[in-house]
Amino acid sequence: MKKKIIYLGIIVLLILLQSCGNDKTYCVHADFTEYVYRFEKEAAQRGRNFNFKNTGLIVEFADLKDNLAGLCHYEKPIRIEIDKTYWKKMKQYAGADLVCEELIFHELGHGFLNRNHLNTTLENDEWKSMMCGGDSIPGKTWNINYRGMRRSYYLDELFNENTPAPEFISTVLPIDTSGYFSLHYENFNSMNPTYWNPSTIKNSSLSIQNQELVYVSQSSANLAIVAKFPYVDILDDFSFEFSFRLAESNPFLRYGLVFGNSSVSLDFFLINNNKEMAFGNNKWYSYFTKLKNDHIIPFKNNHLKVLKKEEMLYYFINNAYVYSSEIEIGKEGFNFGFMVPEFSTLYVDNFRIGKKSKSQNIPREHVSASKPTAELEILEIEIAEIYSSKQ
Ligand SMILES: [Zn+2]
Repeated sequence: MKKKIIYLGIIVLLILLQSCGNDKTYCVHADFTEYVYRFEKEAAQRGRNFNFKNTGLIVEFADLKDNLAGLCHYEKPIRIEIDKTYWKKMKQYAGADLVCEELIFHELGHGFLNRNHLNTTLENDEWKSMMCGGDSIPGKTWNINYRGMRRSYYLDELFNENTPAPEFISTVLPIDTSGYFSLHYENFNSMNPTYWNPSTIKNSSLSIQNQELVYVSQSSANLAIVAKFPYVDILDDFSFEFSFRLAESNPFLRYGLVFGNSSVSLDFFLINNNKEMAFGNNKWYSYFTKLKNDHIIPFKNNHLKVLKKEEMLYYFINNAYVYSSEIEIGKEGFNFGFMVPEFSTLYVDNFRIGKKSKSQNIPREHVSASKPTAELEILEIEIAEIYSSKQ
């Protein structure tokens, strides 16, 4: 009898130990450990303490259906599945670290911060939260500019839903823009412009008609057409502008400014006739973000300008300040130009490029010495859409 009780006791103990062990299982695939650790760190900085190794967590690869990138199961312990195809694909592009962090943090937000999906937007049309997700919303994509100052905001918001609206949504330009001087200007009023000379390029033609530069593309790819301006380094404080008109009937075709280093990467500032603007870098899988903006006048001339000050880029549409964000390229670069969408005719005018004077005197010698190289470079630019959602 005594023996039986002891056996029974051992069995009960084993069952208890086993279920207890299951509840606290910590099994995180090596690809995800860095992000789980980062989450603990970011939480600790905001007064929330997690130790998943002690309390349990499963993060594993899966083949998720319905274009899902990640999925959180409310089990004991919390189990997160990450779609293998999505993860491997993102890892091939620049910005992968942030894209992957955002996904893991979103799922941990469900599992440990009691957060549900929140698909509201800030006043400037950016997502209010990195907890956006679930069923698709017409006209919106899940892209978040999860970099620099925005990453800080989205992390604050993740851990505290009552985080006040961030300053970056303000439409008041936060910097002084004096001290910038123009180095090159071209209005294409003559048939022989100093820059952007008419020429026939593979799959394209460049001509002057009615005092405008006309770029006709017969390419099935988006093309970036850049020239080199040896005295304007993207590491410097610069300003760069063009006006564009795209009369094509497809309102989703994107056109606008590109700048950077053609052999490293190019940042872009694009608009379309659906009154959307997109910001990004061509080495990323998709754009950082795409936002509605009422300053865009569909099918008419739109003047786009980007001004760099320190690490920040300030963007303008028809002279209105519309957005600011960190420059992505960390290397020197002298390429400036524009993007023409596939099979399109783009009318281009009012090119201007300048930089900030380090002294009061405008270095005149630079103006004459800094003729761009005659040859234009044409690059194909692919900007994918992210269809995957986070559940
Ligand atoms: Zn979700």
